[in-house]
Amino acid sequence: MVWDEMIERLSRDEMTHIQTQRLQETLRYAFEKLEVYRQKFDAAGIQPGDIQAIEDISQLPFTTKDDLRHNFPYGFCAVPRAEIARMHASSGTTGKPTPVFYTRNDLDHWCNCMARNCFTAGVRENDVCQIAFRYTLFTGAFGHHLGVEQIGATVIPTSSGQTERQIRMMQDFGTTVLHCTPSYAITIAEKMRQMGVDKQSLALRLGIHGAEPMSEELRHELEDRLGITSLRDYGLTELGGPGISIECPAKAGFHINEDYFYPEIVDPETGQSLPNGQTGELVFTTLQKEAVPIIRYRTRDITHLDRAVCDCGRTLIRHGSIKGRTDDMLIIGGVNFFPSQVESVLLDFADIEPQYVIHLTKKGRRDHVRIEVETTQDYWKNASDDSISGFTGKVETKIKDLIGLRMEVKIVAPFCLARSEGKAIRVVDDRE
Ligand code: ADP
Ligand code: ZN
Repeated sequence: MVWDEMIERLSRDEMTHIQTQRLQETLRYAFEKLEVYRQKFDAAGIQPGDIQAIEDISQLPFTTKDDLRHNFPYGFCAVPRAEIARMHASSGTTGKPTPVFYTRNDLDHWCNCMARNCFTAGVRENDVCQIAFRYTLFTGAFGHHLGVEQIGATVIPTSSGQTERQIRMMQDFGTTVLHCTPSYAITIAEKMRQMGVDKQSLALRLGIHGAEPMSEELRHELEDRLGITSLRDYGLTELGGPGISIECPAKAGFHINEDYFYPEIVDPETGQSLPNGQTGELVFTTLQKEAVPIIRYRTRDITHLDRAVCDCGRTLIRHGSIKGRTDDMLIIGGVNFFPSQVESVLLDFADIEPQYVIHLTKKGRRDHVRIEVETTQDYWKNASDDSISGFTGKVETKIKDLIGLRMEVKIVAPFCLARSEGKAIRVVDDRE
């Protein structure tokens, strides 16, 4: 069963037809309403009318996070202030928060995308959905809230934090679906264990997790600890938040709502379009946005696209796991890696908990990587200095073998590291 029979099983030709039409409309609209696009198009020597086929999109200039920053706050807003129905913003960890605006129609479209997504993951009318993303300027909670409500399931808007209360709510109200970041789901699972709450005693069956990477290893941990199927969704504030894509139960990539977001993969260095299936940077063009139309947005997220029809019957194109964001990629001693790769190696060890921080420091002139990681309490209780040193050596060797870089591993006592209630901080850079 799919939410939107018309769109989710469309033939490739029909989808391309819709996308081409909507792209042309978006370009005309953006060009007419926004000085910033007129300037960009002029500089590239291109007119909206030059784009005849969807492939022509590669001739258009990109939009970047810097463009949005330089035009703060309203430079990309195509509607009069009175037509803005809602605003959200990114966390703004690197400078001013990036605002995003929605008209009434944008909110309806967002709602439709999120209903489609939650339905794809398996949410149905009789579900009880606990939204443990933080309700703030951040888009996550509100997006999930809209979608679940549209399906007709029950929404429990707990927001994140107060973890013991989250668990009591699950018990009291028979929560079946948990919506939160993967790292917060781990925090919840850990608290359940401390409270002596057995997963079998809960009605929980599904987790929908996004806003940060989750390795397959972490997925297995979550599924095991919470007794759920754990699926990932994807989105980013600049494009309106979650609602871009989601995994179906086949767990074979994220179905993209490509009637709303046209995806491309480009070489992150050169910006050249890459052939189907190759890994590179995900780029999206919005096809129906009114308040903030975005043309060829460089997400900085690294993945690939897969056009094959999925086992679930959906024809919507899929992207693979997000390996990480180009600006989160670490380059140490000439070796490139993403924090999620470290997570995969660590969680392959049964005695290791999904609690770790990667510290970057300088040793002399060289960069040094130290990973602080917790082990299970069972391991810790029976450990000696010798056994820890042996174990540390094994983990270090495996990291060296699989990532190609020597990193120092330091086992720390259980509960030493800060617990996440939203996006986990996995990297601390003390090199300056
Ligand atoms: P900020 O940019 O301030 O972190 P956002 O919420 O807009 O705030 O973050 C969006 C980013 O989060 C995406 O560009 C991507 O890097 C990451 N992200 C979101 N969902 C996923 C996911 N399922 N897997 C991996 N990364 C994700
Ligand atoms: Zn599928």
